[in-house]
Amino acid sequence: MEVSLFMSDLKTLTIRDLGHSILGSHQIVIIPHKNPDGDAIGSSLGLWHYLKEKKLNCSVIVNDSVPDFLYFLPEVDQITTFESDPERSKGLMARADMIFCMDYGQLHRCGDLQGHIESSNATKVVIDHHPKPETNFDFMYHQIAASSTSELVYMFLKELDPGYIFSKNAGMCLYTGILTDTGCFRHAFRPETFMTAAELLKTGISYEFIVSNIFDTNTPEKMKLIGFALDQKMKILKEYRTAYISISFEESEKLGLKKGDTEGLVNYALSIQNMVVGAFFYEREKGKTKISLRSKGNFAVNEMSGKYFGGGGHKNAAGGEFAGTAEESVAKFLDIIPQYKDELASLEIGKRD
Ligand code: 5GP
Ligand code: MN
Repeated sequence: MEVSLFMSDLKTLTIRDLGHSILGSHQIVIIPHKNPDGDAIGSSLGLWHYLKEKKLNCSVIVNDSVPDFLYFLPEVDQITTFESDPERSKGLMARADMIFCMDYGQLHRCGDLQGHIESSNATKVVIDHHPKPETNFDFMYHQIAASSTSELVYMFLKELDPGYIFSKNAGMCLYTGILTDTGCFRHAFRPETFMTAAELLKTGISYEFIVSNIFDTNTPEKMKLIGFALDQKMKILKEYRTAYISISFEESEKLGLKKGDTEGLVNYALSIQNMVVGAFFYEREKGKTKISLRSKGNFAVNEMSGKYFGGGGHKNAAGGEFAGTAEESVAKFLDIIPQYKDELASLEIGKRD
């Protein structure tokens, strides 16, 4: 199995050394990326449960907030939020002698906590599956082929502590991360993902409980948003095999959208027959638009997002931001997309290398 473990020039830590450092640490801080998703929170809280079971002092600090749909996770209320509790967060960061960065390899992805990580003398570890990680960490557990960071946490703990019997709490968090990042196993491409999920099921978690908490919690408002977005706001560019949806700031205000309400909308665009690219433009703040891109097969939306929208992500799921209205972002996208016409036309859906 190809696991890339990079070590920094400054310190050369093996996983055994790291294990000793973890056991000797006084304050461990685990930091998921900003606007955390199921995998960022699941992997962070899963690792937190393991460390707590080992009687270690550890805290998860999230930059902004935990999305509502993840409130069913065990002890999710123990997570500290930097924006609402900066003093406590700064105190934890000041005392930290070990920091885990979860589900991102570039420090700007953790928001305002970036500076606190950079200035800390703690041992810094990253567990992640995104392309192009920075290399200024003391220990990297990084593998692009993994379905999710939660799958990597499972592998990491197996290597770190082979005798560990995964608890139900850790199992529920890690299973949630795998389930959300793979869209309920739709984007799970390798046996290891299913084998990990099977092992986690053995912890006694209820698959039905987790699935219904994640996927069957739409509010009537969200269903109305989906109806409105699909009926009024979706455009199909047949010649570019692309479908997109945009929501302006005014529409967002009118609909009373809350954080997380637009989650998953982009997938409706991609699910249209013969489409290769799905895009979603969401003007979350006046003149500031969040872009979500999805693709099928070998069409790499992370390259498009990195080149034109200052973002990144995975080959088939990426995102970025644009300093402009939703309309201006769409205009930029419409300028860009024609250059991909031949590539999009020739792509055989369902075929990947
Ligand atoms: P989403 O569209 O769900 O917000 O993000 C999909 C994926 O794209 C995420 O898993 C993350 O890897 C990546 N992503 C989203 N927004 C950004 C961004 O602003 N910068 C970078 N580098 N990656 C992003
Ligand atoms: Mn992830």
